[in-house]
Amino acid sequence: MLQQVNGHSSGSDAQGGKSLREDLQEFLGGEALLHELDDLTKVNPVTLETVLRCLQARYAADMFYTSAGCTLVALNPFKPVPQLYSPALMREYHAAPQPQKLRPHIFAVGEQTYRNVQSLIEPVNQSIIVSGESGAGKTWTSRCLMKFYAVVAASPTSLESHKIAERIEQRILNSNPVMEAFGNACTLRNNNSSRFGKFIQLQLNSAQQMTGAAVQTYLLEKTRVTCQASSERNFHIFYQICKGASVDERLQWHLPEGASFSWLPNPERTLEEDCFQVTREAMLHLGIDIPTQNNIFQVLAGLLHLGNIWFADSKDEAQSCQLMDDAKCENKDGGLCISFGHTPREQGSIRTSASLLQLPEDPLLETLQIRTIRAGRQQQVFQKPCSRAECDTRRDCLAKLVYARLFDWLVSVINSSICADPDSWTTFIGLLDVYGFESFPSNSLEQLCINYANEKLQQHFVAHYLRAQQEEYAVEGLDWSFVNYQDNQACLDLIEGSPISICSLINEECRLNRPSSAAQLQTRIESTLAGSPCLGHNKLSREPSFIVVHYAGPVQYHTAGLVEKNKDPVPPELTRLLQQSQDPLLKVLFPMDPEEKSQEEPSGQSRAPVLTVVSKFKASLEQLLQVLHSTTPHYIRCIKPNSQGQAHTFLQEEVLSQLEACGLVETIHISAAGFPIRIPHQNFVERYELLRRLCTRTSPGSHSPSPDEGHSEWSPHTKGATLQPLLQDILHTLPALTQAAATPGDPAEATPVPVHCGRTKVFMTDSMLELLECGRAQVLEQCACCIQGSWRRHRHRKQERQRQAATLIQAAIRSWLARKHIQRMHAAATAIKRTWQKWRIRMAFLASKELDGVQEKHVSQVPLPLGSLLLPQAQTSLLEAIIRLWPLGLVLANAAVGVRGFQRKLVVWACLQLPMGNPSSYAVQTAQEQAGVTSIRALPQGSIKFHCRKSPLPYADICPEPSLHSVTGFNQILLERHSLGHM
Ligand code: ADP
Ligand code: MG
Repeated sequence: MLQQVNGHSSGSDAQGGKSLREDLQEFLGGEALLHELDDLTKVNPVTLETVLRCLQARYAADMFYTSAGCTLVALNPFKPVPQLYSPALMREYHAAPQPQKLRPHIFAVGEQTYRNVQSLIEPVNQSIIVSGESGAGKTWTSRCLMKFYAVVAASPTSLESHKIAERIEQRILNSNPVMEAFGNACTLRNNNSSRFGKFIQLQLNSAQQMTGAAVQTYLLEKTRVTCQASSERNFHIFYQICKGASVDERLQWHLPEGASFSWLPNPERTLEEDCFQVTREAMLHLGIDIPTQNNIFQVLAGLLHLGNIWFADSKDEAQSCQLMDDAKCENKDGGLCISFGHTPREQGSIRTSASLLQLPEDPLLETLQIRTIRAGRQQQVFQKPCSRAECDTRRDCLAKLVYARLFDWLVSVINSSICADPDSWTTFIGLLDVYGFESFPSNSLEQLCINYANEKLQQHFVAHYLRAQQEEYAVEGLDWSFVNYQDNQACLDLIEGSPISICSLINEECRLNRPSSAAQLQTRIESTLAGSPCLGHNKLSREPSFIVVHYAGPVQYHTAGLVEKNKDPVPPELTRLLQQSQDPLLKVLFPMDPEEKSQEEPSGQSRAPVLTVVSKFKASLEQLLQVLHSTTPHYIRCIKPNSQGQAHTFLQEEVLSQLEACGLVETIHISAAGFPIRIPHQNFVERYELLRRLCTRTSPGSHSPSPDEGHSEWSPHTKGATLQPLLQDILHTLPALTQAAATPGDPAEATPVPVHCGRTKVFMTDSMLELLECGRAQVLEQCACCIQGSWRRHRHRKQERQRQAATLIQAAIRSWLARKHIQRMHAAATAIKRTWQKWRIRMAFLASKELDGVQEKHVSQVPLPLGSLLLPQAQTSLLEAIIRLWPLGLVLANAAVGVRGFQRKLVVWACLQLPMGNPSSYAVQTAQEQAGVTSIRALPQGSIKFHCRKSPLPYADICPEPSLHSVTGFNQILLERHSLGHM
């Protein structure tokens, strides 16, 4: 359950205001809606309170990212949320047409930067500034963004380049565990706190593929090597070695199990970061081989043993301090050191340390105990025994020097492993992960530098989004009123201003090299900078200090040790000693370089400018800001919901202070009310010129195209004068666009177009930009449709022509085939006909020959006279007519209608000249002299065929009708056997 702690005293009514209960109820009542608002600029009214409630509601609903205009607010979940960073989600954001429409996420910011690089709109290079308190999630966010780019900016087509890209991405990702092992430590606020600033430049080629990266680090907190606050730890790598080394390695590095080191506090705390194997593997992937790794760990073990060397106070100033014996060994905080081993501890430590660092033992001890001074015109060398404190400082200095150089060397190795050839990349995306604003009970130079960097970044942010907006609007001739914003220039003037500031005063102390107490420095600062509104004084503080009122709150800095830390003096004897080392790594870290000597010698006679910590830091910070100014910035504000690192706990008061510290509410106000998007005229015309097509299409009447419109297309060479008409044309399309976007029931959308045309730039809101992009997408879609349509038409026509041609060819071939077939058939028919005619003639001849033989046989038989038949007169005359007209009779008999029954029989009889009477007594008659049947033939099927003499056709072979009793044919009468029987 979400634990909510309000800033008010629990349960009681707060100064006449609403009770906590009421407040809670009100909040909870609106919670359902509040958590759905994914942009804090949409909260109404925009106040710290509503913003806070919205964030709290979203945190309770496991929504950890919220937009705040141009900034992304990232709440630290303090629990694993794997689905929030899955590769599938990365691809979803990468593939989305409008990733900003998806839920706010660091991937949306990542994708936006990536698309900006692709669009090539100036400034092409991008930077993402991840800020927030220690433990708020900056490093986590940078890591996730690097993973995101490794996924999206790596899709080369060729297999070989794919492999190269994969290797580079892997190296870039591997640089994280190595840098974190050597540069991160467990602090009160964060178990994995980065103790250095980091700017990672992800280098992309012209195809927006990641070809390499470069890492720039800032101000490693090297004092941590020798001095850790209580409950804090040294850098992770020391614990990793002590916990993860094998038995052999332990022997080699003199790290027996259970050994304790004064520079290794809280070793019993086991963190997930204590993973030696992961660091070793990552180092291996970065090209640091096992022997080199062992060399590094051996040197680090040497430093740990160095920390166990303690000096006793010297009774005589002329005598150097002796090593403290075992029993009296005390650490700086007064606590007893736990000794190990049986040999006298300090003797063992110096010997072990010397052997691990491959330094001669005696010179090592001597360098720690005795100071060399050059004085006089001849630069005479004097030797002076150091006090116990000085010995300790020299010992610490040696360790810090080695560690800092080792860290820088590691960064250079990482860079040489991941850095791309300068010709192979054209653009970059920078990720800045710097330590957040810090305020501890006791703050020193480190905190001053860190907070100074944060002030600078805050100013960059303010300049970019607040002041720059107002100034630019004024320059561009826009009338716009802003909310008052907090400018931190006064604070920066106090820290780094010219000619007098805190930095210049501290540097002066170093330059003059005069003995100066902490109290004197405090007085000097307070008196010289008394006029600054950002300088304060804590009257209750017993220690000399001063207060700087930062944008994120006041911080008290103690002046004790400030100048010394700023000087960061490295006694030249120490460097010389390290140059004598036989260790291969130390030889690389401390080469024999004569120039180095003169630079590091803080001799009073030296005229060389003193390079103090502050001046070096200031220079690198300015360099960084130059890079940031030349890029398009994106901001991610990481917020820590509670300082205990607990999940589901949202402490309003803590979040509130962070919201105020990062100036988020002002940002929200400005982003909501102003015009965060500014595009130079030329770029605007270049990108949105095609919107004019939309206008002429959607409302032909609203805009009358100029006569020369056809020639006014934009080209890269279009000059300012020609830009204006084009610009106006585009701006004319905007009302149409807004109307088109407005939903019918929502008149608010149809309000005046939130675009202003300045002298050199076009100003607009985010929503307008979105609208323009939609319009552009619409036109591009129309163009695409038009191209597709033309292409389809062309394709269709081509296909149609091909189809017609194919049909023609097919028809020609078919007709040719048909003709060939018919010709063949014709030839066959002719052959059959000829053969048939021949056969018929032959048959006719044979038939007539046969019939002639039959005639002769029956010639003696006399036919009965027709008159002998007893027929009525009418029938007789009919019969005669029939006999005379026998061919007609045959036709009639053959006809289906007309002649039926007896008449038909009569016709047949007459035709056949059969005697009327009993059919059984009939005999076949031949009447050669008369017309009639000359022969009767019995066919196999049972039919009888009559051959009619003197018929128009002497013979025809026609098949009988299938119907019963039918008689067909002109000169042939066919009778079925059974029907003949009835006759
Ligand atoms: P910073 O760099 O700001 O000091 P880190 O990035 O190291 O802080 O985050 C501190 C811790 O918070 C991380 O070690 C991690 O446990 C947790 N954390 C931060 N962001 C997330 C996140 N998005 N999801 C889960 N845990 C997170
Ligand atoms: Mg960090």
